[in-house]
Order: sequence, then C-alpha cells, then structure tokens
Amino acid sequence: MTLPETPILEGVRLTKHFCAGQGFLQRRQAPVQAVNDVSLAIRRGETLALVGESGSGKSTLGRLLLNLLTATSGDVLYEGRNLGNLPKEKLRKVRQELQIIFQDPFASLNPRMTVESIIGEPIWLHTDQSRSDRQAKVAELLQTVGLAPEHGNRYPHEFSGGQRQRIGIARALASHPRLILGDEPMSALDVSVQAQVVNLLEDLKHQFGLTLLIVAHGLAVIRHMSDRVAVMYLGEVVELAPVDALFETPFHPYTQALIAAVPVNHPALRQPRTVLRGDMPSPANPPSGCRFHTRCPHARSLCKEVKPVFEMATPGRQAACHFWKEIANAGGDRLFAAAPSTAFAQRLHLFKTYSPASMETQP
Ligand code: SF4
Repeated sequence: MTLPETPILEGVRLTKHFCAGQGFLQRRQAPVQAVNDVSLAIRRGETLALVGESGSGKSTLGRLLLNLLTATSGDVLYEGRNLGNLPKEKLRKVRQELQIIFQDPFASLNPRMTVESIIGEPIWLHTDQSRSDRQAKVAELLQTVGLAPEHGNRYPHEFSGGQRQRIGIARALASHPRLILGDEPMSALDVSVQAQVVNLLEDLKHQFGLTLLIVAHGLAVIRHMSDRVAVMYLGEVVELAPVDALFETPFHPYTQALIAAVPVNHPALRQPRTVLRGDMPSPANPPSGCRFHTRCPHARSLCKEVKPVFEMATPGRQAACHFWKEIANAGGDRLFAAAPSTAFAQRLHLFKTYSPASMETQP
C-alpha cells in the first residue's frame, strides 16, 4: 500500500477577516469576510487554478497560502510543517521557496532600479555570491525568460508589458522557488502576449519542476494550463475538481454559470447569454445557509437555512451544494433555459480548441 504524498502546500481551515475602519463616534462595522474556513491542498508539481468573480477571495487565499497575509484563524502547512510554528530563520528560507508573480507588471517593478538590480536583489539577499557571479546569474535568468543579457542595464519603463512580466518571472526564479503563485499574471496583458506568458510559465514549470498556483479570470487560459481548478464564491471554495471533469460536468451551479458567461466569438455558435441574477452580496454580511442562494436558480428553502458541506462528490472531486447530484445530472439545463441545450457543449468545444501557441506572435 502506498501512502498518500504530503501536499507541498496546504491551507487548513483558513479564515481571513479584514476589519473596516472605525472612526471616533462611528458605529463599529462588521468585518469583511474575505476568506472563510477554506481547506485546500496543493500537490507537488501540479498547476492549481483559483477562479471566481472579483471579490470572491481568490487573491487573498493565494496570499494567505504564501504567508504574505496573516490568517485570522487556520494554519498553512508547507511540506507538512506548520508555518506558524517555524522559527524566523527557517521561515525566511521557506519564503525563498514560495514566490509570487504580480498582476500588474507596470506597478510591481521599482522604476528607479535597473533590471539587473531588480533580478539580482534576491540573489544578493539570500546568497553570498560575488558581484560578477550575480551578474552572470542575472544574464542567465534573462535568457531563460526570453530576454537578452544586455537588457539588464535598462530600466523597467523601457520595456513592454509582456517583457516586464518576463522580468517579474525572472525575479521570482532568482530565489530557486519550488512553488510560484501567479496572481492574475495575464490579466494586464494583450491576448497575444498572454499566450507567450502562458507558454513561458508552462516551459519553466517543466524545466525547474515547479508547482504553480494560478489566480485568474480567463477560463480558456485556465482550461489550457491547469491540472485542477478550485472555484471560489464569496470567500469559500464551492467546487474543486480536475480541469477536464470540471469543464465537462460542472457540479456546482456557480461553476456552471461561470462557464456559461464566457463570450462566444463565433457567429454560428453565438447564443443568448444567461447572466446570474443580481450582484455578489457584501462579504461583510454574507447570506445565511448557502452563500450562493440569493443568486442560485436551483435554490430551495433548505439552502437558505443550512450551509452545504464541502464534501467529496466523486473520487477526486468536491462540491458544496445540497443538490449537486441532480443539478449535474440535469446538465445545467435550467441555467441555460434561454439557450438551446447544445450551448453548453459548444462552449466546451471552444475551450478545447483554444491553444495559446496558435495565437503566439513574434516578439
Ligand atoms: Fe444552489 Fe442550494 Fe446548491 Fe446553494 S445549496 S448552490 S443555493 S442548490
């Protein structure tokens, strides 16, 4: 019997509440429940995607897992070790191994530093390499991410968005990370440049044996590059599944709605779009029972009163819905009532035929 492998990174019942500002004579405001009681394990070498609407808590969860934010409650385990119990020196070493690529390549690079200083800074901080060795390492990293060694003498404003994101990736690689969090790394880039960055991340993952945690909006990119997907709604994970299974038979009505909301750019496949009712409720005052019940077309009285358990639905798949079985069997028909029943299959076809390589342009 083989023992299950320890996840590289695991969040156990993570909760993060942000307290809203409180002034003199002001009423105390309810805290914003950005992440609520989430447990999530990331396997070694996989690409796990966190998806959901803006405000669903996916970026906050990513930052909690990387120990960039302190959790209100819950634990983060790295290689089975609780980061909350690690001495400072060991935590520093762990931080080197958990790196982040930021969403905005324009804001995440110091405009007063040369590219060589930006990429060389973690090497200078964490090793005792000589200046010439550091310069050689920076030149090697620049080549690894598809830039030229002479780019090291330039400043960030001299580069395009895609090139800046490559610089951000090179800086993350400089610490020899084992896991990289991409916090919407493609969302500020043109579509053709997005494809280049997706391909670069995939190549680097295989070259360096990385584990990737990707926070993203673009479902086509997620479909292409991830192994498993965790869908978040209002601070909670509502579905977790291998990528193919999730896109082929989404169990949770919110996952079905996310897939249905993807625009179709072919006239022959265009269908009336089904849009979720209303806005996402305030995370400072989430609905009782199932947090999705105010917008769910399948909601019943039980949903308003009893919170669904995030349970194993089928092997390797978890969902938080009282009625996932009958909703999945119905294939989301009620959600797509305004569209012909083939709409779902057509969208799936588009996801499957998406290929970043086919969109790649010459740099
Ligand atoms: Fe919809 Fe009820 Fe399932 Fe929540 S528990 S997703 S409200 S059917």
